[in-house]
Amino acid sequence: MSDTLMHTYARLPVAFVRGEGAWLYDETGTPYLDALSGIAVCGLGHAHPAVQAALADQAATLLHTSNLYRIPLQERLGERLCTQAGMDKVFFGNSGAEANEAAIKLARLYGHQRGIELPEIVVMENSFHGRTLATLTATGNRKVQAGFEPLVRGFVRAPYGDVEALRTIAANRPGVVAILVEPIQGEGGIRIPPESYLRDLRALCDEFGWLLMLDEIQTGMGRAGRWFAHQLAGIRPDVMTLAKALGNGVPIGACLARGPAAEVFAPGNHGSTFGGNPLACRAALAVVDTIESHGLVERAAALGSRLLDALRARVGGLPGVVEVRGCGLLLGIELDRPCGELVGRALEERLLINVTAGNVIRLLPPLILDDAQAERLVDSLGSLLEAFLHDSPEQAQA
Ligand SMILES: *Cc1c(COP(=O)(O)O)cnc(C)c1O
Repeated sequence: MSDTLMHTYARLPVAFVRGEGAWLYDETGTPYLDALSGIAVCGLGHAHPAVQAALADQAATLLHTSNLYRIPLQERLGERLCTQAGMDKVFFGNSGAEANEAAIKLARLYGHQRGIELPEIVVMENSFHGRTLATLTATGNRKVQAGFEPLVRGFVRAPYGDVEALRTIAANRPGVVAILVEPIQGEGGIRIPPESYLRDLRALCDEFGWLLMLDEIQTGMGRAGRWFAHQLAGIRPDVMTLAKALGNGVPIGACLARGPAAEVFAPGNHGSTFGGNPLACRAALAVVDTIESHGLVERAAALGSRLLDALRARVGGLPGVVEVRGCGLLLGIELDRPCGELVGRALEERLLINVTAGNVIRLLPPLILDDAQAERLVDSLGSLLEAFLHDSPEQAQA
């Protein structure tokens, strides 16, 4: 293994060299069932023919010009996303953190334009918004922040799912201009708030003139069984960020805005060299087209609910399993003990899963997972979990 990479990741001892659909192949040609999709990125699976063709054609045509010029593919993608989401305008960057940075800057400028000198943004406990300085400050996880102080000013934290706490903040913090929140907390452990939560946040933001900014980087692009998870609550945000599955592996992020929020930025306020370049936009257009033409949003909803039922039936009753929960193809199995070790055990069984928040098995399979693969996932995970819970019962008291 090469020693020149900064040690930012504790990597598993495997390298994949090829993929096809929900399968990844290592250097020896061994197949692995991918139930993680590169952390919710490859929603269409690996080497999808439509993405492949679009990228090959675009690579042979034009990769990059500059945002100094019109970029028709960016305009087309913007229109498709705005139509799908009921939003007015979009800014393109290259990652989730950048999309959230754009949202944070937008909210601050929105505040300044309304005479608020030190605008504040409400963020949640247990949240994840990225690794840049502003987004790690917004993130509600000390592990992400420790060692990087001084953190960025202008954030106020509230418990996730708690609307009353926000009323207290509203009464005490006149500088608040926005709430930044995930509709479902992904890194935080597939935490699904009460059904009314987003509607209450919408009403609260309307009451106090705050922007409702939804981080749909992990939940968007069909994964939650809707194009965007907030559509389940029947509300619309003022700002929404996307990345991960938007390019199916080609780096692209987006910050969408609606109404007054869409009019905040003017030339010179924000920018990106690569953001929304022809290659990335062509890939994202192929993703949007494919999700639409293959009915993958409906597929994610149907398969997700079947997987949830099957997982509940298979492991829901095991001693040590606290809860099996899910929304579309965001699935979490919470245990009463740390279970990071399961990732390596699953790898040995040629199954790719993730553990987040220490004790939550996270499944984010591609939207193209077929029925046989879904069955295999449940069987394989069921056996792994039984063995794991049997081997480490003493940790239950920890
Ligand atoms: C992954 C993620 C991010 C950060 O995206 P990057 O592309 O890694 O910068 C932000 N918010 C949420 C909810 C995410 O899941």
